[in-house]
Amino acid sequence: MQGVYDRLTELIPAERIRLQEPMKKHTTFRIGGPADIYICPAIEEIPSVLELVKREQVPLTIIGNGSNLLVADKGIRGIVMEIGRAADAVVNEGGGRIRVGAGTLLSRAAREAADAGLGGMEFAAGIPGSVGGAVVMNAGAYGGEMKQILREVTVLTEEGQRIIYTVPEEYTTAQEADGVQYRDIAELDLSYRHSILQETRYPVIEAVMQLFPRPAEEIRAIMEDFRIKRAEKQPLEYPSAGSTFKRPEGYFAGKLVEAAGLKGYTVGGAQVSSKHSGFVINVDSASAADVRSLISDVQQRVQEAFGVWMEPEIKFIGDF
Ligand code: FAD
Repeated sequence: MQGVYDRLTELIPAERIRLQEPMKKHTTFRIGGPADIYICPAIEEIPSVLELVKREQVPLTIIGNGSNLLVADKGIRGIVMEIGRAADAVVNEGGGRIRVGAGTLLSRAAREAADAGLGGMEFAAGIPGSVGGAVVMNAGAYGGEMKQILREVTVLTEEGQRIIYTVPEEYTTAQEADGVQYRDIAELDLSYRHSILQETRYPVIEAVMQLFPRPAEEIRAIMEDFRIKRAEKQPLEYPSAGSTFKRPEGYFAGKLVEAAGLKGYTVGGAQVSSKHSGFVINVDSASAADVRSLISDVQQRVQEAFGVWMEPEIKFIGDF
């Protein structure tokens, strides 16, 4: 890894490269062992990192703001690339279009949209992820989801090829000639907490959101209403990764967990929140193993009681 580290220092400023970086510092769960190498590149540095990863055959894991992750206690081998702090930018292009770097926090993008009198992102203001992570997860809340506002998503392939997923009326042959591939945004299959980017694992580097004019005061009032609802219902006072399970068709995950008698169920430092049974929280220095075994107990007990298998929404990454 030292050789890879040395080569990375030629591509990225040294203060944005760390060795043996504890992942608990980079996840909202506050759980996770060390990443061999942790980097935080700016958008323009990402293509050369991908080239190095390909040449050196190093495993690569991409994260955003770490708000939907359970990272293994043994950590993550290879390079962890955070598309975050160093990859944020918000540009108001006019006509309701906002272009954002994938590392931009949703809360910042939503705030800037509100300041510009642009509605459509109210649902996203309280989701603690980056725009890139929100695209990959098709994050949503209160009847809104990323799919409704995304107009363009730019990703890079392992070869560094730039693909822009957009609406068909924006393809032109002249743009194709620039070496950029254009694809229909429908191919991303943005659906309930899913996009094909969860399978392709292409880094998202930029997105364009199409918003609409709305008085800033009205936008802020809606956001405030959502903020109050979240604070009332969700255990925001504890570290977590949000809703642990996807909503099984026809049910609410939290209600099933509660009905199975698992409210407050604890394994080590991990607990089913007694405020909202859909959340697993880290109450006392939980390990990833605690959370994993609690999740598996909940899945089994709910399956036994109701015949429903609950898929986790959170992503397990690293050396489990
Ligand atoms: P991460 O957690 O860092 O990563 C998630 C996945 O995306 C991983 O597979 C990662 O590899 C991938 N990824 C991240 N960035 C990129 C990128 N730039 N390119 C390619 N792949 C990338 N979610 C909701 O949908 N609705 C909610 O209301 C909601 N409420 C939450 C409340 C709390 C208190 C918490 C802690 C979480 C909540 N979440 C919610 C979950 C989480 O915030 C979202 O899933 C968010 O979109 C994840 O973004 P992230 O940047 O943190 O991604």
